[in-house]
Amino acid sequence: MRRVSIFGATGSIGQNTIDLIARDPEAYDVVALTGASNIEQLASDAIRLRADVAVTADETRLEDLRAALRGHDIKAAAGQAALVEAACRPSDWVMSAIVGAAGLAPGLCALKQGATLALANKESLVCAGQLILSTAKAHDARLLPVDSEHSAVFQALVGEDMAAVERIIITASGGAFRDWPLEKLARATLAEASSHPNWDMGQRITIDSASMFNKALELIETREYFGVTPDQIEVLVHPESMIHAMVGFNDGALMAHVGPPDMRHAIGYALHWPDRRGLPVDRLDLAQIGALTFRAPDERRWPALRLAREVMERGGLSGAVFNAAKETALDAFIAGEIGFPTMAEVVEEVLNDTASSHIDAPMTLDNVHAADQMARQASRDVIEQRAG
Ligand code: NDP
Ligand code: MG
Repeated sequence: MRRVSIFGATGSIGQNTIDLIARDPEAYDVVALTGASNIEQLASDAIRLRADVAVTADETRLEDLRAALRGHDIKAAAGQAALVEAACRPSDWVMSAIVGAAGLAPGLCALKQGATLALANKESLVCAGQLILSTAKAHDARLLPVDSEHSAVFQALVGEDMAAVERIIITASGGAFRDWPLEKLARATLAEASSHPNWDMGQRITIDSASMFNKALELIETREYFGVTPDQIEVLVHPESMIHAMVGFNDGALMAHVGPPDMRHAIGYALHWPDRRGLPVDRLDLAQIGALTFRAPDERRWPALRLAREVMERGGLSGAVFNAAKETALDAFIAGEIGFPTMAEVVEEVLNDTASSHIDAPMTLDNVHAADQMARQASRDVIEQRAG
């Protein structure tokens, strides 16, 4: 039996992971499941999958979790330290699907105990790519991409030599506002930004798709994971979301990964890797789809892409600053404090004003955390100035 843990089990990626695991319960021994606010889901999945431990990130909900698990031999725990403790429990395969920078510390612990880390939490690589990669290497742990674009690139690279890779193209649907007039974006509502044309995902990543902050994070993720230079990575708008990524080789060939927009494909690939096993995803009927279309991204509509390129050039801890500013600006948009285009303006201002001493500090977990906290405060200040 394979020991598996799912961090962020109550979210969109977590639930899709559980869907796959629950189809073959005899194959898996579930060690830890974690969530935050959704105690009912966390407890019912922990009971159904007979997990050893269930952890909520929210310390104020520990009693609720205990009550929901009463009568079952499952340990209940809460808070950041408990998340890290759960990540230190021996597991063979760990899904990292907490949303945001909060996923970094548990992911590092999972790598330190040698687990294979299936990484949906792209923020980890954006904030601390070199730390994640060096930790995996030092502990002989494997890192597998779950983001659909990166899983697609990973699959297109099987058996290939990285020296023959010229470029990596990641596609973007364009999100909710792909075809909106630019001047209308300032009036975009939360409900409008929270609906995705093709993918069914958590609210935060759905809004990040509309702003392309998600693609911006993925540009940085591509650079960190595959070790290519920024000018080797391209973003291509592809409204149908059928081709997830392409790898261009030195003989002119483009290897494209085509599949339905269902995260269970990328999750299942990481779960069964290096094998391919049957997965319950739709099979594409390309004749029925008829046409796949592509266009270049407009950086006036999506300034996040330009900002990501600046972050890649600057390196160091600028990814942690970028992500924290983005998360804070996103919170402010969700709370109705700022308009949709203001998110990118806040992030840009914080990036421009961050002293080099923060960016160039050595990449330790403490320094990443310090840069993250500094950027959150700086973002709050910018948001308050604008509101006032
Ligand atoms: P969701 O918002 O659906 O789920 C997030 C999960 O994290 C939930 O289990 C949530 O708990 C938990 N959580 C929230 N805040 C915290 C915190 N501070 N500490 C610990 N846990 C917390 O997100 P998604 O599933 O959409 O995304 C998860 C990750 O996967 C993100 O990094 C995202 O970028 C990435 N990803 C997602 C894709 C998708 O299709 N959804 C595609 C590719 C990547 P609760 O719900 O109980 O509050
Ligand atoms: Mg993606």
